Formats: sequence, structure tokens, C-alpha cells
Amino acid sequence: MEPIYLDHSATTPIRPEVLEAMYPYFTDIFGNASSIHTFGQKAKKALEEARGSVARLIGAHPSEIVFTSGGTEADNLAIKGAALAREEDGHIITSTVEHPAVLAPCHDLEKRGFKVSFLPVDHHGLVDPDDVRKAITDRTVLISIMHANHEVGTVEPLEEIAKLAMERDIPFHTDAIQSVGKVPIDVETVGVNLLTLSAHKLYGPKGVGALYIRRGTKILPQVLGGHQEVNLRAGTENVGGIIGLGKAAEIALLSMEAEGRKISRLRDGLWKEIREHLGPVKLNGHPVRRLPNILNVTFDGIEGESILINLDLKGIAVSTGSACTSGSLEPSHVLLAMGRSPTMARESVRFSLGIGNTREEMEYTVTVLGEVVRRLRSTSSLNRSAMAAPRYGGKC
Ligand SMILES: *Cc1c(COP(=O)(O)O)cnc(C)c1O
Repeated sequence: MEPIYLDHSATTPIRPEVLEAMYPYFTDIFGNASSIHTFGQKAKKALEEARGSVARLIGAHPSEIVFTSGGTEADNLAIKGAALAREEDGHIITSTVEHPAVLAPCHDLEKRGFKVSFLPVDHHGLVDPDDVRKAITDRTVLISIMHANHEVGTVEPLEEIAKLAMERDIPFHTDAIQSVGKVPIDVETVGVNLLTLSAHKLYGPKGVGALYIRRGTKILPQVLGGHQEVNLRAGTENVGGIIGLGKAAEIALLSMEAEGRKISRLRDGLWKEIREHLGPVKLNGHPVRRLPNILNVTFDGIEGESILINLDLKGIAVSTGSACTSGSLEPSHVLLAMGRSPTMARESVRFSLGIGNTREEMEYTVTVLGEVVRRLRSTSSLNRSAMAAPRYGGKC
């Protein structure tokens, strides 16, 4: 059996067509897109076509797309750029389940005098729009709520939140990195001002992303030193990478619906086997309002990290509800925010499926997972005493 990759929320393999589309931009068409000569103009033309493809995927106008070095930079640009463009000591509303690429710039702005409301979520990971409404003040300069969560897949009620933001004329940002290319999102229908996406989460290359900026939304650039991207993001464009993002977006637009159906069938089959044969288990995330590819499960009495290591020994890649912070195994902030205990959070495993996964792979995974879970449960007292020491700290 070939290794089985069930960690598509961490990154996805590049589609062969995407790699093929990128190749000429590392060889023949190597010009700097800012150059006036033909070498440069060929690169520029391709870059603008890619901008069009990204815009089409989310219902935007090409002039509203700014390319960045990835999702993290785009999140930073959205949050710092929008907040600093409005007020020195304004107020920001976000949630406790955001990705660190959103949380960290918010914490940084807090140090600079901004106030930030980190809204709670319910046990499914949902933000209550009513909490957003109550949190809005006269000083609120930005609302940032993610589209779909990276650990549990819960899809947030963006339309309701966008409506509240629009009524008060507050810019609304959404980190849609996990959802773009997997489920449809239209910036006009939802009514967002800013939306972040990243190529390597949608079968494109790493190190390239984009920020959608609705016309008229005030943004201060955060990377200075050139006039690229209409003065919003300085630096010579990663032409090859951007072409890859454009191609990945073009394919996603055509194929996401069918792929999503196939992937969710595999995912639901996996959950059915786990629920019926490997209990006691608990599903983390909303049972319905959820991305088609994510399955996050708490296996009662077993450390998620032990499951991960044992599956990896059998060639199956998953991830846990833990993130390594300063060398120790910290329970996931997302699962804690959803009301899970630190122990339950540590007992969680995230399976994130992708377009390459097959029924045969799911069958093999179920078999191996069954062996691993039964073995670990039978030695769980041993397992628990070992849990006291962070065994895999510093290796993440
Ligand atoms: C992956 C991810 C990011 C970071 O994007 P990069 O392109 O890896 O920098 C931010 N937010 C979410 C929700 C993600 O899944």
C-alpha cells in the first residue's frame, strides 16, 4: 500500500496540471512582471490572467485581488492593513477559534492600543451573530471571522455577520483559506470586504496567496519597497507561483462540486465505521455546517498523538488536536474554545481528506485504525502515565 495522506488541511499536493502550467514561468518566461520589455510583459500578461481566474472563483473583480506570499501574509495585510488605515486605537472583533495568522496580528494590535473582542463559540464551533452585534461599538474598525475552521471544519454564519457589519459600515474580513476551492463562496452574495485565500490549501503551490479587497475598502500596505500590486504589496511578484494559484483556482471552479460530493461520501463512510466500531468516540465540529473533507474525532481514553504516531508507522498521515507551543504539547485552542476539556482535546485526531483519496484507502485506514485504537485502549493505563511527559515536544 502506498502511503495514505489524510492531512489536506495542513497542505495539499499540487495538481499535475498546475505544475505543468507553472513550469514555463521558471524557464522561458522568466521576466520580471514590472519590466517594460517583452520578457516582462509576457510575465505580466500571465499574471493578470491568473488574477482573473482567482477573481472568478470567488465572484470578485480582478482589480480587487492582491497577491501575497501566502495565507498568513494575506491575513496580516487584511487585519493590520484595515485596522491601521482606520484608527489608531480602534476596536476589532474576531473569534477564539481563528487561525494564528489572524489571532497573532490581533494580539499585536492589542499591544499597540487597539481593543480586541475575541468572541466565544458554541460546542459546535459556531460564532453567534448576536454576540457580534452586541460587541460592536462606535470604535469598531474591523470584524474578522473565518469562513470554515481549519481543525473541525465548522462553517460560520458569514452572511448574518456581514449584514451587521454592513449596516454599521464596518469592514468585514474572512479567512476563507480552508473553504475556497472546496465549497462555493461569492464575495458579493456574502457581502465581505476582505477575504483571504492560499494556493497550497487548494492543490496549488506553497508560498503564494491572495487577499480580496472590495473596491473602496481602506487598506494600508504592510510590506513596503515597490509599486507592485497597486502599491498594496511591494516586492517582485512570484510569477510562477501566482500562475499556479490561477490554474488551481480555474480547476477548482469547475470541479469542486463533484470532488466535494465524492470526498464527503468517503469522509462520512470513515466516520460511520469509527462511530460504530471504535467507540466511545465523539465528533468535533458541526455535524452539518461543515466542510466536506474534515473529520475531527475524540477517541475516549487515547492520546491523539499516540494514534498519529502509530498510523504514521503504517503509512497513514493524520494530524491531532494539539499544536506544539514552546516545546510542550498544548491542547488545541479551537477544541478548548468549543468547550472540550484539555484531556478530550488531547484525545482528538483530525482526518482531512482530499481529491486523491480512494475507497480502498479508507478501508485500509479503518482496518489499521481499528487495530491501533484497540491496542492503545487495552494499554491505556500505561498510556496515561506516559502522557505526563511531553514525548514529542519540540519535534513539530
Ligand atoms: C493554512 C491556513 C493559514 C495560513 O496560510 P499559509 O498559506 O500556510 O500561510 C491561515 N488560516 C487558515 C484557516 C489556514 O488553514
